[in-house]
Amino acid sequence: MNISATIFLSKGRDEAVRRFHPWVFSGAINRIVGKPEDGDIVEVFDDSGNYLATGHACAGSIAVKIFHFGPDKPGIDFWERKLSDAYKLRKALGFTSNRRSNAYRLIFSEGDGLPGLVTDIYNDVAVIQAHSTGMYLLRTDLAEALKKVYGKGLTAIYDKSSEALSKSGGKSGGDGFLFGTAVNTEIIENGRRFIIDFIQGQKTGFFLDQRDNRALLAKYAKGRKVLNAFCYTGGFSVYALAEGATHVTSLDSSAKAMEALGRNLTLNNISMANHESIVADAKVYLSTLSDDFDLIVLDPPAFAKRHSDRHKGLQGYKFINTAAIRNIRSGGLLFTFSCSQAIDNDMFVSMIMSSAIEARRNVRILHHMGHSADHPVSIFHPEGAYLKGLVLMVD
Ligand code: SAH
Repeated sequence: MNISATIFLSKGRDEAVRRFHPWVFSGAINRIVGKPEDGDIVEVFDDSGNYLATGHACAGSIAVKIFHFGPDKPGIDFWERKLSDAYKLRKALGFTSNRRSNAYRLIFSEGDGLPGLVTDIYNDVAVIQAHSTGMYLLRTDLAEALKKVYGKGLTAIYDKSSEALSKSGGKSGGDGFLFGTAVNTEIIENGRRFIIDFIQGQKTGFFLDQRDNRALLAKYAKGRKVLNAFCYTGGFSVYALAEGATHVTSLDSSAKAMEALGRNLTLNNISMANHESIVADAKVYLSTLSDDFDLIVLDPPAFAKRHSDRHKGLQGYKFINTAAIRNIRSGGLLFTFSCSQAIDNDMFVSMIMSSAIEARRNVRILHHMGHSADHPVSIFHPEGAYLKGLVLMVD
C-alpha cells in the first residue's frame, strides 16, 4: 500500500481507535508527518509511536476513516480479502445462492470495515457507490477483487459514486461501467420480482435495507386499504397487493419512480384495478388526507442530513406522522420510518409520542424495525444504524 503520511494522535486521544471506532477526528491529532490529500492512504500511530491503524485521509472534520486496525499492518491482497470476508458473511447468512432473494448489500461501509464504500449485488450486477475519495480512487481495484470473488456470477459492475461523492465533498469523473454492460437488471426479493434501473434510479437503484420490513408488511396487508407514501418503485405496494390488500394508493414526487412501479406491478402479474398512482408532494397530500386508510407506510428520504438539521428534520417527521395518526382508521397500522443517521431511536420514538399527543389518539408500538442483516452495524460504530422504523397500532 502506498502510504502518503503518518499521523500521530495526541496523548490520551487514542482510546476510540483502540476500541475499533473507525473515525479519527481532526481534534485528536497531535502531528502529521507528510502532506496527505483527500483520499490518500495514511497510517495512524499513538503518541508513543505505536502503530494503531491504516485508513483514508478525508477533507472534513473526520480526518481519517480507518479500514484496518493493528497490531499488524495490512497484508497483500488486502482489498480482495475484505471483499471475500464480506461475501463469506452474506453466504453464512443465507443471502447468496438463495432462490427467493438474489439481491443483497455486499459492503455496508463501516459495518464491513470499509468506511466510505457501499456495494449492492442485484442478481448478476454489482453496483459500487463510493462516499469517500479514498474508496473512489480504489474503484478499479475493487472491481477486480469483485470479479475474483464472484467469477462468472457477475456480468457487470457499475460505478454509481458521483452523487454520493459530491455530497461528501469529493469529485468523480461521472458514473459508468467498470466491467461489462447492462441496461438494467431484474431481481427477486422474497419471491417478488423487481426491475432495477441502477443507472437512472435513486441511490444504487433499490432500497434493499427495507427487505425485512416489506416482508413484515406482507403479514398484515390482507384485507386492508393501504397508503404507501414515499413509495419509490413500489416495494411495499407490490408486497401489499400480492398478499391481498383490498386497495393500494402509491404516492411519490418522482414520476420516473412511479413509472417503474407500474412495470413492477405488471412483472408480478398484479392487476392495476386495485391500485392508484399519485405523483405529488407527500406533505401536501397528507395535510388533506382522507380517513379511510387502515394501513399507511411513511418512508420518507432523510429529513435530517446532518446534526445541525435535526430540529428541522424532526419537525418534518412530526408533521407527516401527526397527519397519518390523526386520519388513519381506528385499528389501523402505521409503518413509519426515518433513515436519518442524525436522528437516533429515542428521538424518533419521542417524536412519535408528540404526534400521538397532537393527534389525540392512543398509539401502541407493535414492532421496532431496522435494516436487514446484510447491513451489519459495528457495536463500536452505533452511528451505522441509520434506519429506524416502528409498526404502530392506532386505536
Ligand atoms: N419505500 C421505498 C423507498 C423510499 S425512498 C422502497 O421501499 O423502495 C424515498 C422516496 O421519497 C423517493 O422515491 C423520493 O422520490 C420520494 N420523495 C422525496 N421527497 C418527497 C416528497 N416531498 N413527496 C413525495 N415523495 C417524496
